[in-house]
Amino acid sequence: MLSSSLPRLEQESPAYICPYDQACSYLEAAAKELQLDEGILEVLSHPRKVVTVSIPVKRDNGQVQVLAGHRVQHCDILGPYKGGTRYHPAVTLREVSALAMLMTWKCALLGIPYGGAKGGIAIDPKLYSVGELERITRRYTSELIKDIGPAVDIPAPDMGTSAREMAWMMDTYSVNVGHAVPGVVTGKPISIGGSRGREMATGRGVMFIVREALTDKGQSLVGARIAIQGFGNVGSAAALLLHEAGAKVIAVSTGSGGIFCEDGLDIPALKAYAAERRKSIVGFGQATPISNADLLTLPCDVLIPAALENQITEDNANQIQAKIIAEAANGPVTLVANQALEARGVMVLPDILANAGGVVVSYLEWVQGLSYVFWDEERVNKELEQLMVQAYRQVMQQSLHRQIPLRLAAYTLGVGRVAQALGDRGLYP
Ligand code: GLU
Repeated sequence: MLSSSLPRLEQESPAYICPYDQACSYLEAAAKELQLDEGILEVLSHPRKVVTVSIPVKRDNGQVQVLAGHRVQHCDILGPYKGGTRYHPAVTLREVSALAMLMTWKCALLGIPYGGAKGGIAIDPKLYSVGELERITRRYTSELIKDIGPAVDIPAPDMGTSAREMAWMMDTYSVNVGHAVPGVVTGKPISIGGSRGREMATGRGVMFIVREALTDKGQSLVGARIAIQGFGNVGSAAALLLHEAGAKVIAVSTGSGGIFCEDGLDIPALKAYAAERRKSIVGFGQATPISNADLLTLPCDVLIPAALENQITEDNANQIQAKIIAEAANGPVTLVANQALEARGVMVLPDILANAGGVVVSYLEWVQGLSYVFWDEERVNKELEQLMVQAYRQVMQQSLHRQIPLRLAAYTLGVGRVAQALGDRGLYP
């Protein structure tokens, strides 16, 4: 498997869970269920292209630092590579490779004509000035100039990046090729061809999936008790939309701790509080402080991990009391924890379905850009809802039809479509 051929760039503790091995295990399970040809499995187990570039950056104090920037292009069988760019201290080549593979299945599952990719730089953006971040982003983009493009590979925001970084990427690419190319990235500001509704899209998609799952369990979103780990772009948007739909968001957290309120938190007020306090939420109103670990094991209807990978592991899986887990983050439940939860009958809505709203509206942004016609937010949200609900139903149907858990069902759909296309296209030469 590829992981053994990847350079051992990162430090590995004994408890290290290799994200690429995990991703391959899910792929192998889907291939087994689909009785895929071994050659096809072998092709899909490897990224098509792995690029690591050096990014020399002059810090504001005059010191020069060299960062490593990755872009992994897993598969472009169904269309251009697609995936976010992550700025986070825990970024490694293996993580980026795993996330690139996830993007391939996510796009195929949602029926959007893209392959999968991911980029990342191992930095804590909070430790860099805006000027430094701009220099890093521009140099990273210019190093990747031959590898990206609207028909080749289309980056987007991910953890630690936003519309601001996309604008720098679009500008750098455009200046280098000599004309404006808005389609080279998605998640751009609206002023340069971004889509209405893109910023809230991942959170909105999570809300749709949670609503459908609750309905299938005979429960309404109104009054449902929800705990959310993470209050960044995805967690805060999901919290707000679920709150507006009548759910009780009883707990939320950030990296510096969380808060709990039995009667439900006032999410609009909490968002304003977090913005003022630069994201920290502890101390808000009458809410009780709660640790990230305790938030995960609260009794609730729906648990939404919307932060980092590997939050629900074999150590805490059996303490989870939620009936439904919606993976708003990528890979928040480990492989072993996933098996334990499935065995206990917990409904795990997998990342490639639950958090696909972001890339769906990225696709809608790209379509609007290519057709030079821009839609109002209502239309964007409606199209997003349609695609999310359709994918949700397909996953439920597949799960029922094959008598398999939801994650495997989602994987068989995503992997199956890519495998079919690979079979149809054939191998060159
Ligand atoms: N970073 C998001 C994801 O993991 C969005 C990717 C995109 O829009 O291309 O799905």
